[in-house]
Amino acid sequence: MSQDKGSQNSVDVVIVGAGFSGLYLIHRLRNEGYSLRVFERGDGVGGTWYWNRYPGARCDVESMQYSYSFDEQLQQDWHWPEKFSAQPDILEYANHVADRFDLRKEIEFETAVTAANFDEAAGRWRVETDKGEKVSARFFIMATGCISTAQIPDIAGLSSYQGNTYHTGKWPHEKVDFTGQRIAVIGTGSSGIQAIPVLAEEAAHLTVFQRTANYSLPAQNMTMTPEYEGEWKDDYRARRMEMRYTPQGSLKDLNDEPALAVSEDRRREVYTERWATGGATLLGAFNNLLIDQESNDTAAAFVRQQIRKTVKDPATAELLCPKDHPIGTKRICIDSGYYQTFNRDNVELVDIKKSPIERITATGLIANGRAFEFDSIVFATGFDAMTGTLFNVDIRGRGDQALKDKWYAGPRTYLGLMSEAFPNMFMITGPGSPSVKGNMLNSLEQHVDFVTDSILHMRERGFALMEPTREAEDDWVDHVQETANRTLFPRANSWYMGANIPGKPRLFMPYIGGVGRYRQICEEKVESGYEGFRFDADPAQAAAAE
Ligand code: NAP
Repeated sequence: MSQDKGSQNSVDVVIVGAGFSGLYLIHRLRNEGYSLRVFERGDGVGGTWYWNRYPGARCDVESMQYSYSFDEQLQQDWHWPEKFSAQPDILEYANHVADRFDLRKEIEFETAVTAANFDEAAGRWRVETDKGEKVSARFFIMATGCISTAQIPDIAGLSSYQGNTYHTGKWPHEKVDFTGQRIAVIGTGSSGIQAIPVLAEEAAHLTVFQRTANYSLPAQNMTMTPEYEGEWKDDYRARRMEMRYTPQGSLKDLNDEPALAVSEDRRREVYTERWATGGATLLGAFNNLLIDQESNDTAAAFVRQQIRKTVKDPATAELLCPKDHPIGTKRICIDSGYYQTFNRDNVELVDIKKSPIERITATGLIANGRAFEFDSIVFATGFDAMTGTLFNVDIRGRGDQALKDKWYAGPRTYLGLMSEAFPNMFMITGPGSPSVKGNMLNSLEQHVDFVTDSILHMRERGFALMEPTREAEDDWVDHVQETANRTLFPRANSWYMGANIPGKPRLFMPYIGGVGRYRQICEEKVESGYEGFRFDADPAQAAAAE
């Protein structure tokens, strides 16, 4: 059984990260009697929701669905105050889970894992932390999230700036008071679009620097009603089961009809209804919006129409209208009053599409040949997604091969769970799994269960090592790309494609074949004897027996 944290240099499992994946891993593996060391770089639990504390941060998956399903009493007891949860409520939930299941005692906070090497002779991982500790483990699990390495672009003069800078993904823990300030926000992805309306209310003046206009749909958020909550809680088990086999891991109203099969009037009616319902429901208005360009164009045109109706200044409205990518092929943004914010007198939109920000100065920045002065600059510039955090740890598998080197042309995984030559190393919601293309809570629970069950499978059969075969991995990598290529997704310069990081290989990183379909594939592999994986005996014992 596990002992007190910090006391064991040799354990069954090292887990990196105490976000939602890490917490559930601790719960499951500890219950099975495994000894653990868990390292978390923050000083609290919650992962993404620990770091992204920017004003307006909110989840765009409904609260009743963006929560753990593993414990019936937990899901019955917990009350979400709103239909779409704000970051503080999700963080409170993560803390509640950590306390309720007594998980905190396993976690070493403010400790980053810096390296992990697979010792082939011993069949064990040697893990090092930034505190200089070395730990040996049979299993090594990266539960580090998909969007956890914040990215500030390399703009000339950044270090000369005398004001305050913030990144939405590394927001200070104490409240930042922007009252009376002139603020710049750089970036109009999900984070910027959520932060801008809230910052605009507080600041004296807000300037938004937009490189690419994004499609944003209104959340139409509301206070949770007892009726809605009760409806879910009365039927939670069945609904959770159903969610698991849906395309996005959540219950949504998906219309199984192609967009062009109905009249223009009917299409407008459907889009209008879904706009009023809120959230990402508009993307489920027809079954081919993310596959067929012409169909997609109808939804994109509707959203542009809504923007033009909302934003009073026609020139600003036009700049806010996305025109360079199909709707939904960059992560759809969900907002509360984003477009309306541009009708405020204290908000200005600056287009930096044609020429990037020239440089940052001591007092502001220069863009389009114009000098701006700011008290604070907020970078809403995104993340080195999916691979950035994995590469921040010097992970080396068989033959001292670095993960970064193996993946130089893009991530190579089998099912997004493991990579060949890295035995007993698992990734939770790794590249090549649906991860960010669905309800993350649903996907991470599936992965934690898969990993735990695989470890139990090995224990039952006396295996020491698990690793995908090269063939299975090659086939899966091809399948992930072929599946993406059947959609419109590769047409956008998105972080899904690695396009936001200079020099990053351009290919679609998540698996877009559907959350439910993916779960079925995983189940089929297990049922057919873990097809595509190979299991080996303990190399140290084998050597001793010779
Ligand atoms: P993002 O989607 O990558 O957006 C980054 C923004 O910064 C883009 O507008 C990008 O422009 C801009 N940018 C980057 N480098 C720039 C530069 N050098 N100069 C000017 N602009 C630059 O990042 P994010 O908004 O943090 O969102 C990341 C993901 O986190 C989301 O897609 C979503 O999955 C998740 N998230 C979810 C929620 C939610 O649940 N509601 C909220 C926040 C975030 P380009 O588009 O031109 O690259």
